Amino acid sequence: MSILDNRPALKGQIDKVAEVAGYLWQKGWAERNGGNITVNVTEWADDAMRALPAISAPRPIGKTLPHLAGCWFYCKGTGKRMRDLAREPMANGSIIRITADCAHYEIVADQPVAPTSELPSHLAVHDYLLAKGSPYRASLHTHPIELVALTHSKAWMEKDAATRMLWSMIPETKAFCPRGLGMVPYMLPSSVELADATIKAIDDDYDVVMWEKHGVFAVDADIMDAFDQVDVLNKAAQIYIASRNMGFEPEGMTDAQMRQLSTVFGLPK
Ligand SMILES: [Zn+2]
Repeated sequence: MSILDNRPALKGQIDKVAEVAGYLWQKGWAERNGGNITVNVTEWADDAMRALPAISAPRPIGKTLPHLAGCWFYCKGTGKRMRDLAREPMANGSIIRITADCAHYEIVADQPVAPTSELPSHLAVHDYLLAKGSPYRASLHTHPIELVALTHSKAWMEKDAATRMLWSMIPETKAFCPRGLGMVPYMLPSSVELADATIKAIDDDYDVVMWEKHGVFAVDADIMDAFDQVDVLNKAAQIYIASRNMGFEPEGMTDAQMRQLSTVFGLPK
């Protein structure tokens, strides 16, 4: 028995999570238990689901998040591997609901898999997105090799320096990651400071935020879209590196060519 039985729409969302988890592993972005995925699945919760008993006692989130009362999330489990989640999403993650006080969650299905230790920061981002009226429902944290390598240079950590370079590698980068790459300086993983800085960067109009010397945090409508943005950016970083490995600094598209893209395709930046 699974909460996904006879709920094809909800199952479709979890299937996408599993598919993305497999890609993260194949790309070498998800060593050991690295990375996190949370998806707000509230719109697929039906009356029968809402009547289900919890299979855990309410646990404190560690924050009060006023827009999350009664919301439902799929969360990767703490210590679980993406490569295992790809095969068995409901054994390596769980579906939780937030209690009416907005400060606790309870696990509802399928197994009492404790959510990621990054839950407070992921939920804080979801709370922010709901407050803003954003259609984004998925958040992804992963360790894309070439993008993380870039952050080991202070020059690429300058605001929009990496964005301009990555956009100029191929036109699709700007078209499919049109807000670019926000930069957050190194902070302790799982810290409140890192969560706050991430939300500030998203509020500064980025969908993908780079954590210096660590990884990316991406938000989008669903988990496949969030993955695609990171994939597109990392591909651009690989093209840059390929040119450098061929012994030259890549020319990049001109500013005029990139402005033309924004005009013709109606891009936000
Ligand atoms: Zn990480």
